[in-house]
Amino acid sequence: MKRLLSLIIIAVVAANCQPKSQVEVPISKGTNTEMLPLVADKPIKNVILLIADGTGLGQISTGQLNLVGADDYLALQTMPITGIVKTHSSSSLITDSAAGATAYSCGQKTDNGMIGYLPDGTHCKTLLELAIDKGMKTGLVATSTITHATPASFAAHVESRRDEDVIAEHFLESNTDVFLGGGRSFFIPQTEEGSRRSDDFNLVEKFEEKGYSYLQTAEELKATNGDKLLGLFADGGLDSENRTPTLAEMTDKAISTLNNNENGFFLMIEGSQIDWGGHGNDSEYVIREVKDFDDAVKRVLEFAQKDGETLVVLTADHETGGLTMMTDSEDPHTLQVNWVTDYHTGVPIPLMAYGPHAIKFTGWQDNTDVGIKIAELMNFGEFPINLE
Ligand SMILES: [Zn+2]
Repeated sequence: MKRLLSLIIIAVVAANCQPKSQVEVPISKGTNTEMLPLVADKPIKNVILLIADGTGLGQISTGQLNLVGADDYLALQTMPITGIVKTHSSSSLITDSAAGATAYSCGQKTDNGMIGYLPDGTHCKTLLELAIDKGMKTGLVATSTITHATPASFAAHVESRRDEDVIAEHFLESNTDVFLGGGRSFFIPQTEEGSRRSDDFNLVEKFEEKGYSYLQTAEELKATNGDKLLGLFADGGLDSENRTPTLAEMTDKAISTLNNNENGFFLMIEGSQIDWGGHGNDSEYVIREVKDFDDAVKRVLEFAQKDGETLVVLTADHETGGLTMMTDSEDPHTLQVNWVTDYHTGVPIPLMAYGPHAIKFTGWQDNTDVGIKIAELMNFGEFPINLE
């Protein structure tokens, strides 16, 4: 009896400790209600893979309610094909971003923490590397450090995601055309302020020697007409409240830089910090990041509609925080966001697709299937591939 009582007390205390916050829901304007049409199947020239880190239906819907109200849609909700993705990794039912992104980039399960790297010590060939082999241009864009787990999994191979200095070195050798994000710390020698390297290696110089334009501000990003870009706009992740450049601005530049190639391009764009809002159980942070991401999605969809040969696939890597949507019992029009954890959860995540062959992504699928389907549609040949 005593034990039961203490369990009840623990349960009550735990329930009261669950972080909650009120989210304002404006009245919809009724201006964003149109869905994009299906596109006739034809060969795909370009692929844009958008990854919203830590984003489940709760994050999307909370963002939608606050940003456009209950009756309108975000840009990402107008994509005609929807699917559901299972996300477990080989080491856990709950994935991290390294194993999550490697499932997409390599079409294979790996252990949490591993970047383009498999539990047996082999490397796996990524979609981006196969795109380069086919003569496509390639790019990675993120609002975290560009060496963070998600972008890293497309152009680096390390056992631990923590080795961001080594990941930056792999990027140099990768021949990826465009890198835009944060993480200057891992590219500058230890003697420079803000460096997080433990050697004198100056990767910025090495990139410049290879023909990359080095950019540090939104103005420099806007002005450049270089065909290889290394844009590092912060020492760590990009600031969330005063983001400059925005993900949409980086996306515009990435697309215009890559889209001058007869063999097409492969571009991965990550809304990295929706996940960080989830880890902080901070709904305002999540909403701000959903907006930054959705603004980029809007630009991507505008481009893809005009282009007609671009497949756009948008998904997450996992959900973060166990975000649940409830209402205030006093006011049923107020959204109350409740969180169950400050880590990732195992709930399946949504996928959206637009463009030729988007229909391939409908229904339930494993995260590895997403990478495999892209490789198939792009005629990349044998995939997945393990390398020694
Ligand atoms: Zn996370």
